[in-house]
Amino acid sequence: MQLRPYQFKLEQDGRTAITEGHRKIIMQLPTGGGKTVVFSSILKKAEAKQTDALLLTDRTELFKQAKRTLEFGGVSVRTIEPSVKTMPTSGIVVAMAPTLGRRLAKCGFSPKLIIVDEAHIGTFTRVLEHFPEAVVLGFTATPTGKHIPKLYTKIVQGPQVKELQQLGNLCRARSFQMIDEVKGVRTQLGEYANSELFTFYDKPTLYEGVRTTWLTRASMRPTLIFCVNIEHAERTSQEFGEFARVITSNTSKEDRERTLREHREGTFPVLVNCGILTTGFDAPYIEIVVINRATKSLPLFLQMCGRGSRPTDTKTTFDIWDFGGNFTRHGLWQANREWPLEKHRTKHTLGAPPVRKCTCGAMLEASAKECEYCGYVFPVAVAQPKFGVLQEVLEKQGKRVSQCSVSELVELETNGRFKAHFIWRVLRGKGEAQVREYAKIKGYKGGWVLRQMKESKQYKDVNV
Ligand SMILES: [Zn+2]
Repeated sequence: MQLRPYQFKLEQDGRTAITEGHRKIIMQLPTGGGKTVVFSSILKKAEAKQTDALLLTDRTELFKQAKRTLEFGGVSVRTIEPSVKTMPTSGIVVAMAPTLGRRLAKCGFSPKLIIVDEAHIGTFTRVLEHFPEAVVLGFTATPTGKHIPKLYTKIVQGPQVKELQQLGNLCRARSFQMIDEVKGVRTQLGEYANSELFTFYDKPTLYEGVRTTWLTRASMRPTLIFCVNIEHAERTSQEFGEFARVITSNTSKEDRERTLREHREGTFPVLVNCGILTTGFDAPYIEIVVINRATKSLPLFLQMCGRGSRPTDTKTTFDIWDFGGNFTRHGLWQANREWPLEKHRTKHTLGAPPVRKCTCGAMLEASAKECEYCGYVFPVAVAQPKFGVLQEVLEKQGKRVSQCSVSELVELETNGRFKAHFIWRVLRGKGEAQVREYAKIKGYKGGWVLRQMKESKQYKDVNV
């Protein structure tokens, strides 16, 4: 098994932690970092040393994926799963955690090493407590949850998303936000109450909003949409008509596999779901992830974003469209994050890295000086608005906005009289030369001018 340098380092750091005396260790690696490869390498070495080891997972997809990777790497794997009645007593064992949980009393296996896949999930605790002597390596992208500081004594942190992007192992993400706040929805057990969240989203304007945004910005690129619940997913899919299909927990295995295949093959561009494609779903062809829901769960947020992050020969960038204020709540997907092993200040967020929003909808890190998508230069605090110029415009009472010069329009925008989008529409009405002149003043690039000239949206003339 060939490890990438950062994967090798993670394995080494885990080993160092064991040497330092830690027995229960979290191995943190961002989604897409290839945790399966890392723990398969560890298990292969365990097999070579004849160390009995257990791999715990609670998702069928992850179970199959892990088994496949191990067998591909030449490891001989035994399993604990519902359909197999006999229980292995030695070797490298891959187990479905719920099945093992039911059979603990008659389990004659005592592994020296246990690897937990998706260790942020709290359901492994009972099984882990059955093997107090074992060294536990808990793999997760998001070590949060009350059980983490109770079960583990050390977090070995892997590379940040940005490092993996620089290495070309993860795509760059372009982040846009369409809904920045979800109002009037109560919180239950740390997450938005599902029925109330559905009520918030179940509005014609919001279904229409997602569809219109997609039709105007997606250029038919393969898209994955996450919704609140089954009903929301189905209605969202209906809104898209022939462009979309939906997968929910009601979808039969056959339908699901066919739908996934046809989406991959490009038969239809939009795949809608409500949470079943969050883990163990590998779809490198996806170019747009639409988060059509709000979540307070940082693990869920990062998992949804991560579905579009795998690079291919032709894809190095993907879009994340946030329809639920999630960037504001959790920061950008690619934000640097530290994972301390302690009870967090707030229960479900780790002090979200601050973001700033551009008039074009793009979400950027708070430190950004310029929008990397539309070229907009954020006003700097020390630059005072030119009041004199504004006054000059305002004094010409009765002047139509369509009659303003480009520099007057810039002033109207700078002074907050009109939103940038409105100014752009006015400029488009004036013609390409004026759009170019404006772009030059603002320092926008040629691509921005081209995009403007493709837009057809009109404006209503007003007095300034
Ligand atoms: Zn922008």
